Amino acid sequence: MTLGFTRTLCTAIAAATVWTAAAKAAECPRKDALGTSRVLRVDAATSPRVGLKSFPQTLPLQDHEVVLTFDDGPWPGTTPRVLAALAHECVLATFFMIGRSASAYPELVRRIAALGHTVGHHTWSHPNIKYMKPDAAVADIDKGIAAVEKALHGTASTPGIAATPSTPFFRYPYFEMTPATLDLLQNRGITVFGADLWASDWEPMKPAQQLKLLTERLQAARKGIILLHDPKAQTAAMLPAFLRYLRDNGYRVVHIVPAAAASTARAVQNPK
Ligand SMILES: [Zn+2]
Repeated sequence: MTLGFTRTLCTAIAAATVWTAAAKAAECPRKDALGTSRVLRVDAATSPRVGLKSFPQTLPLQDHEVVLTFDDGPWPGTTPRVLAALAHECVLATFFMIGRSASAYPELVRRIAALGHTVGHHTWSHPNIKYMKPDAAVADIDKGIAAVEKALHGTASTPGIAATPSTPFFRYPYFEMTPATLDLLQNRGITVFGADLWASDWEPMKPAQQLKLLTERLQAARKGIILLHDPKAQTAAMLPAFLRYLRDNGYRVVHIVPAAAASTARAVQNPK
């Protein structure tokens, strides 16, 4: 098959199977943008733990479908550049935020949410949960969720993980977890996200090197939940080229939302 034919075929399949494609194309001001192909509802009851790095199962993605996730923000120095790159391609992502950063930059948290991105949780202080006393681990998770909720909704009255947060998505720092906290999160209706592939952007490298590493890994995996870090300048610098790569190679971006919030996300995505 020629590349042109393959690309046409991919486009045809995408158009036929993705019900939001027309809505996004109409909404996105730039015609050849990557776009967000569909919304995937994630229900903690059926998907309590996802991501092949840590778990045997992951999200039900089709070949060439990716979910973009960004950890450790928000960070004013780089997150706006990440947001600009995503907006340029009309792509929606998920941000797993550190509570103390959300607390320091609540307007940035609200801006991310207002743009339609999903806001998940990543503890208060980014500790290694595995080496903490159980109570301290729960307290840090809890405080992180409360801080993000407060930034988003302006209220401190959230009971944290004693109840389900507005976005019940959580990722452990360093992918380090304990059975006790995993059970706790599951009991409280919170999906734990690992990742299927990552850019290793915690290691210093040039944006071009990072792009090469990530695209090679994606070529091998063909799909999956991708982990990136929005506070990393090298990632912010790489992102426009990576999104172009996705566009040029027939990948489709899937936006994840909590099952209960899916109808709201649709309404935002397609104002009609
Ligand atoms: Zn992290």
